[in-house]
Amino acid sequence: MIIQLEPTISAGQKADLFQQLKAIEVKPAEVSTQFGHYIVGVGKKEFDIRLIGSLPGIRDIHRVSDDYKLVSRKWKVEDTTIDLGGGIRIGTGHFALMAGPCSIESEDQIAKTIEHLKQSGIRIMRGGVYKPRSSPYSFRGLGIDGLKLWYELASKAGIRIITEVMMVEQIEDMLEYVDVFQVGARNAQNFNLLDALGKVDKPVLLKRGISGTMEELLQAAEYIFSNGNERIMLCERGIRTYESAYRNTMDVNAIAMLKAKTHLPVIADPSHGIGIRRFVDKIALASLMAGADGVIMEVHHTPEKAFSDGQQTLSFPEAERLYQQLEMAYQLRSSFES
Ligand code: PEP
Ligand code: MN
Repeated sequence: MIIQLEPTISAGQKADLFQQLKAIEVKPAEVSTQFGHYIVGVGKKEFDIRLIGSLPGIRDIHRVSDDYKLVSRKWKVEDTTIDLGGGIRIGTGHFALMAGPCSIESEDQIAKTIEHLKQSGIRIMRGGVYKPRSSPYSFRGLGIDGLKLWYELASKAGIRIITEVMMVEQIEDMLEYVDVFQVGARNAQNFNLLDALGKVDKPVLLKRGISGTMEELLQAAEYIFSNGNERIMLCERGIRTYESAYRNTMDVNAIAMLKAKTHLPVIADPSHGIGIRRFVDKIALASLMAGADGVIMEVHHTPEKAFSDGQQTLSFPEAERLYQQLEMAYQLRSSFES
């Protein structure tokens, strides 16, 4: 059950509410976010919802049968939109493209990528400065200095930054320079990191774990929301299966299903989803048709020289072609929906 409280609720009214919840054996958790104040109640006993809903100081009450509550569509029917300012929105009606290198490598690379994005009308740039790498000997990113340099160039160009945070300790230093924090697949169930990102007022793009179920992804998002941050996007980036012909198996099913299960925007990452450059466009288009609210992809001025993930990274001309195709596909999808 989710009870949304009026901001004006008095201490006495709240005490009465807790009393009522105790009587029906509901365990309450208080959640305050940048947008609202809620009580999430977990309990099994049958009761008349109106008993609680009619109490003073309560805006509304909903039963949510899913184990995750605040991210469920059973509670919030309308889609959530993430506003990054400057007219940049992510969510239904605002198909979002995010592109950039796997890793931030140099000032020259940042400048070339920004120029490419500007020419294509893309306003969100991805890139890693803290890189989770399978081998400890691989390039691990330029760190906070790389982020500061990137921020300097991107903010001048009106480009927003999405980048991965790997540890709780990095959040504070990164905060000023980041528009969207990415939680990578390897950290999808790092509950301390999720708790901490719930306490900052910056959007979070939460990637599905390499072998994560949809339920686990939604519960991970619930961690962030219940700690106070409603600005969350989910990202399907491929899962590990028995198939070894490609890096990951893009679970297009999950995109369609997540859109039904949650009100949060769902983003597709076809680059990691298949891991092979020549198929990224097809998987991106399939993801869009499955209902994705946006696509995040890896692009580079010279993919064959990229410090990481070059094999799945599009060149600028390849990316430009795909942006146009996605735009056309989005128009087609919109025509089905209207
Ligand atoms: C990335 O975005 O470059 C990345 C490492 O993604 P993932 O966590 O999905 O592997
Ligand atoms: Mn990558």
